[in-house]
Amino acid sequence: MSAMDALFAVQDEDTIVGQLGHRHAHLSERRDLADAEAARAATAAEVDDLKSAHLDLYRRQRRYEGEVTAVEDRLAELDGMLYGGSVTSPKEAVALQNEIGHLRQRLDSLEGTVLETMEELEPVDKALAELSTRAGTEEESIATCRSALLAAESTVDGEVAEAEERRVLAAGDVPTEVLARYEWARISFGASAVVHFAGGDCNGCPYSMPAVEADRVRALDVGTLAECSECGRLVVR
Ligand SMILES: [Zn+2]
Repeated sequence: MSAMDALFAVQDEDTIVGQLGHRHAHLSERRDLADAEAARAATAAEVDDLKSAHLDLYRRQRRYEGEVTAVEDRLAELDGMLYGGSVTSPKEAVALQNEIGHLRQRLDSLEGTVLETMEELEPVDKALAELSTRAGTEEESIATCRSALLAAESTVDGEVAEAEERRVLAAGDVPTEVLARYEWARISFGASAVVHFAGGDCNGCPYSMPAVEADRVRALDVGTLAECSECGRLVVR
């Protein structure tokens, strides 16, 4: 390969590596993974909210159940007093019966509240179970997205490695000094650091070389490296 052909080959491979870098950074698989992770985070937030609602209801249920037990204990105690033969006057018996009557009403009401709380818990439990299923599906989806991303990245990485290998081969045919000039120009001009001298002008910029300068380059041997007087790009005669 001629030195100038090799220089263009180096530039081509640098351009390819740059494009692959862009592709690597913007893989649709990466966006898919981010979406899947966002869905999982949203589900986790819903689970947190429901768990806190669940805990509130459960604690309320336990509190009422505790009150039920306390009232039942007191009723057993009063029954014991009423039928245990310790009551001496009818007046005392009436008072006991009144208290028992009140406590039975209180017990009914408490038991009703316990049932209501349990009923409120049911849909929360159901929703939590559904969210748990959804979270499982989302985990699987994240795992799938992650391996798809790894596969896509590894494809791009493989192509980068191939391009870099070709670049090393091509660079071997470019004189060190020319390669250094190219690297320098590449900082400013990227993929068009080196261009052809065609149509009597630099092919890299919209300006026209002054006629004298264009004549000078035209007079060079084909394959000679010049520089555009207007933009500074490397121009290959
Ligand atoms: Zn130019």
